[in-house]
Amino acid sequence: MDMDPSEIEALVQQTAHEFANRVIAPQASDLDATERFPSDVLRGLSEIGLMSINVPHEYGGADAGAVAFALAVEQIARACASCAVMMSVTNMVGETIARFGTDGQKSRHLPKLASGEHVLGSFALSEPDAGSDPAGLRTMATRDGGDWILDGAKQWITGGGHAGVLLVWARTAPTAAGAKGLSCFLVEGSTPGLKVGRAEDKMGIRASNTVALQFDACRVSGDALLGDLNGGFRIAMAALDGGRIGIAAQALGIAGAALDESIAWAKTRSAFGVPIGEHQAIGGKISDMRTQIDAARLLMARAAFLKRAGQPYTREASMAKLFASEAAIRVCNEAVQIHGGYGYMREFAAERHLRDARVTTIYEGTSEIQRSVIARTLLL
Ligand SMILES: Cc1cc2nc3c(=O)[nH]c(=O)nc-3n(C[C@H](O)[C@H](O)[C@H](O)COP(=O)(O)OP(=O)(O)OC[C@H]3O[C@@H](n4cnc5c(N)ncnc54)[C@H](O)[C@@H]3O)c2cc1C
Repeated sequence: MDMDPSEIEALVQQTAHEFANRVIAPQASDLDATERFPSDVLRGLSEIGLMSINVPHEYGGADAGAVAFALAVEQIARACASCAVMMSVTNMVGETIARFGTDGQKSRHLPKLASGEHVLGSFALSEPDAGSDPAGLRTMATRDGGDWILDGAKQWITGGGHAGVLLVWARTAPTAAGAKGLSCFLVEGSTPGLKVGRAEDKMGIRASNTVALQFDACRVSGDALLGDLNGGFRIAMAALDGGRIGIAAQALGIAGAALDESIAWAKTRSAFGVPIGEHQAIGGKISDMRTQIDAARLLMARAAFLKRAGQPYTREASMAKLFASEAAIRVCNEAVQIHGGYGYMREFAAERHLRDARVTTIYEGTSEIQRSVIARTLLL
């Protein structure tokens, strides 16, 4: 498979790299420490087209494809994993509307997502009692004349407190119908009856807004239904396939930053009269870190290039997400070790990278769920 980025993809990567270094990196540590919502960063990402990478030009998007998306998320995550996940989810929301929406839905939401008028898009699937198993979700959507009334609760929704538009999954058929009874709705953040909970206090990605949502008789019009009635599960799975490439890219970016800092430290920190990198044990760690990062990069690239080519990529996206996220945790853990006591201090980025990497094996499907997705394609 040819896996060379096109000129456009390389340009998107370079644009993201430059923005990450100039605007995001200098404030990343402060964003983590203060949990400040990075409005300026998100506005800037919209201005350079990175919040709607897979949205068609006619709706204001960059229309640059899956490979450009992965390369851009990785660059942003190298500087700030919190910014990267909000960017990744917003892109996933825009792409899902572009793929499944009517002309009216696309015209209504996509230009706002692309321009930053919708600061973020959110993906509201998980609930307090349904994470890995969304077929068990309980939020209900009931008909009222031509409208729909949503009632229920969502949990840990990225960007949910700042989203202009949310994809919300609700049950439109009896519980017994499981995954077959779910539909997806486009809900604007300002809709009466949608209440946003307090921002969660998290181990990592602390500047990423993560909230619970409550829907109390939240009325949306009939044309808020995205795709087919009771066809929401397929939309969620399709969105997550692409999203998992984004989380693989996020993990890769975090791990890449941890490796670069470890190499720099290993060259300058001395013990026993030589730079610690000259001790074989440290050199071995750095070699293993780089090998795992390169392996993760190849898996991520394969999934993204398959997607770009319009070929099936569900298994490959799960493999990329599974390996990159688990590798990122190992790499970041070693980065702390290489930094010694300094690695345990807030003053150094190594401990932030480890905290940020930890969530990547949990959201958009845990590692256990990725393994069952992969196994299903091999065994059934
Ligand atoms: C910071 C953060 C942001 C998030 N953002 C979003 C968001 O924007 N939108 C959204 O919808 N959700 C979001 N989530 C929710 C996330 O997707 C879920 O936490 C995740 O899918 C796991 O669900 P759960 O937490 O309910 O765990 P559970 O499903 O309760 O799983 C608990 C454990 O059991 C394991 N397990 C469950 N089922 C199986 C099985 N069949 N086989 C083997 N092991 C199994 C899991 O792997 C896990 O280890 C976010 C979560 C976090 C932490």
